[in-house]
Amino acid sequence: MNETDVIIIGAGHNGLTCAAYLAIGGLRVKVVERRKVAGGAAVTEEFHPGFRNSVAAYTVSLLNPKVISDLKLAEHGLKIVERRAQNFLPAPDGSYLLTGEGRTRQSLANLSERDAARLDAFNHRLEEIADVLRAFVLRAPPNIVEGLSARAIREGFNALGTAKLLGRLSLEQQRALLDLFTRSAGEMLDETFESDLVKALFGFDAIVGNYASPYAAGSAYVMLHHAFGEVNGKKGVWGHAIGGMGAIGQAIARAAKEAGAEIALDAGVREVIVERDRAAGVVLDNGETIRARYVASSVNPKLLYTRLLPSDALPADFLARIKNWRNGSGTFRMNVALSAPPSFTALPGPGDHLTAGIIIAPSLGYMDRAWLDAREGGWSREPVVEVLIPSTLDDTLCAPGQHVASLFCQHVAPELPSGKSWDNHREEVADLMIATVDRYAPGFAKSVIGRQILSPLDLERQFGLLGGDIFHGALTLNQLFSARPMLGHADYRGPLKGLYHCGSGAHPGGGVTGAPGHNAARVILRDHRALFG
Ligand SMILES: Cc1cc2nc3c(=O)[nH]c(=O)nc-3n(C[C@H](O)[C@H](O)[C@H](O)COP(=O)(O)OP(=O)(O)OC[C@H]3O[C@@H](n4cnc5c(N)ncnc54)[C@H](O)[C@@H]3O)c2cc1C
Repeated sequence: MNETDVIIIGAGHNGLTCAAYLAIGGLRVKVVERRKVAGGAAVTEEFHPGFRNSVAAYTVSLLNPKVISDLKLAEHGLKIVERRAQNFLPAPDGSYLLTGEGRTRQSLANLSERDAARLDAFNHRLEEIADVLRAFVLRAPPNIVEGLSARAIREGFNALGTAKLLGRLSLEQQRALLDLFTRSAGEMLDETFESDLVKALFGFDAIVGNYASPYAAGSAYVMLHHAFGEVNGKKGVWGHAIGGMGAIGQAIARAAKEAGAEIALDAGVREVIVERDRAAGVVLDNGETIRARYVASSVNPKLLYTRLLPSDALPADFLARIKNWRNGSGTFRMNVALSAPPSFTALPGPGDHLTAGIIIAPSLGYMDRAWLDAREGGWSREPVVEVLIPSTLDDTLCAPGQHVASLFCQHVAPELPSGKSWDNHREEVADLMIATVDRYAPGFAKSVIGRQILSPLDLERQFGLLGGDIFHGALTLNQLFSARPMLGHADYRGPLKGLYHCGSGAHPGGGVTGAPGHNAARVILRDHRALFG
């Protein structure tokens, strides 16, 4: 007797999304989560007495509108607001770029009339291709299936559907698509713009969670990946979830529970039970066994296959490949409690720019050097830091007059060279991150009254993000679409019967999207109906 129909490993937002759809579809679902709180990387916690913030993920755009409406997330308490300005990039010489509705063009023209004239065409091209991505987000990519079975025939139709979607693009758009999938963002931006800050604005998106130079081939795709979202119907815009990113996890958890799913916290999975080549349940860290018809995993695929499954249960070639799954987004995350808002030399005092994503990385060369430094020494002398001050938009996070800021720092080595441990260097690197912001906003360091530090190693320990990888695996061409997590398994089905992938290690990858959870649920429900009607 199965105790439940589906066990979901991990109550990140994707595991919860999958649970909600499956429960709505009539299956009995149990989610088991290692942490004491649901939401995975989309959580809000008190990190300093009286100061709450999104601990890991910190800004919203990619969360799929269909997931928001299907799961009635607004009714479950989710409210997303737009930033009053989108991005603010101060430069050491006192110039700056401030983007957002009605202000980007003028701000850009102050730096370069030529770039301002070129912006619309560049954005239009990016937007056209982002529309293609949007069309693919909620469909399983074509999967490679050997032989001639019903599954292979279905995949043939899926491939035809994909070709049809791509066929709608003009030849020039297809060329642009190829560029965005294969080229470096740096090259494309150098060809189009002349101002360092404008290039840095787009280039930053190419290196967020991508431990690579903006001149690395493939970085243009990461730029695109950050462009397919929207906030309240406005494409490409980033916003804030009131109450922090935990509000997303909590709203999805409520939707799942309302549909009948159970969520067990402090219930880490030690092992997936395999019987006759089939996933048959899980054993928890406390020794409890839960049997199920299907097991869906939302954890990093390498973690699942190298730590939670007995190696002799897996095909040898599959295991050998997944061992090489590339993790390590090179990110260092801090939350700081502030006694006062920062004042930037380039634009002093309060203003809408303090609601923006404030990017400290004034040129592509700066980002390139940051990566080279990190490769050599573990971190950069001049690091890339995005500062977001959500308390400028949300008064639920701390007392009036005080503020919380997220520091999202790129380009630290996932593992430090020469046998050094992050445990011995996290404080020193945190000081460097704060000093870097202080250079652009003097007095910032003094205003910090509490801080939380998450090195790549901390991210791995706390959230199960191997190598601290925020996306559950690099967004490189060999780990995307039909190859996520591996050719032959892009249809959310693992190499064992009854085993599914429902987290960011599956298409369309990382970010708070809900898409892998949504897509996996559809496949599980289809398989269930094929078996039981
Ligand atoms: C620092 C950081 C900043 C980010 N910033 C943003 C952002 O601003 N915007 C954005 O859209 N995306 C952002 N991302 C990416 C995004 O948060 C993730 O891609 C996404 O949240 C992953 O969701 P998930 O449900 O697939 O997996 P996760 O959220 O990783 O959930 C997996 C869950 O599995 C649990 N788990 C692990 N091992 C076990 C086990 N053995 N048994 C049971 N449970 C287990 C984990 O505790 C976790 O709760 C960020 C990520 C990080 C880490």
